[in-house]
Amino acid sequence: SVLIGVLALQGDVREHARALEACGARTVTVRRASELERVDALVIPGGESTAMWKLMRAFDLLEPLRKRIEGGMPAYGSCAGMIMLANRIVDGMDGQETIGGIDMVVRRNAFGRQVDSYESTIEFDGAPLEAVFIRAPWVESVGEGVEILGRVESGESAGRIVAVRQGRLMATAYHPELTGDHGVHRYFVDLVSKSKDEE
Ligand code: GLN
Repeated sequence: SVLIGVLALQGDVREHARALEACGARTVTVRRASELERVDALVIPGGESTAMWKLMRAFDLLEPLRKRIEGGMPAYGSCAGMIMLANRIVDGMDGQETIGGIDMVVRRNAFGRQVDSYESTIEFDGAPLEAVFIRAPWVESVGEGVEILGRVESGESAGRIVAVRQGRLMATAYHPELTGDHGVHRYFVDLVSKSKDEE
């Protein structure tokens, strides 16, 4: 089976690990570059992207993360993790950097600051999924190589892109680790398994 690292600087580390394990993967927490070297793939949980960026700098993880992603390591980012995988961000803090990898522009706190969190049923890869948004970003625009896996379906933000994939990288604006529905994690574990078979 595949070994998936869960970046453990911040966020729902245990919940992601449990969901991945329910889908047949082995998991390990990742806090240093040496731990990153061992994994087949990485999940970047939600949290606060400005804090995560500073922690990545403090732990000397930003360059190793960029190198592994450029080298083809699959990665999945949820919420702040989506921000970290974006090539460009809007409404970032001054100087805020990302790891990058997905050719998209992501807007931080896109649903408005007054909207702390909400839930909505959203299609993911052709099946309905209960999506939990917490001070979530959305995707403003994507480049040609990016596949759109989900959009907000109703309300003011209807049509906004909230799930994407580019090659071995994927991201959701919402938190699938907080529900019992493992559709997103299963999709990622399948992607990681296929990537490993190709090597
Ligand atoms: N608003 C957060 C940020 O900008 C993301 C929120 C989350 O990950 N739940 O990083």
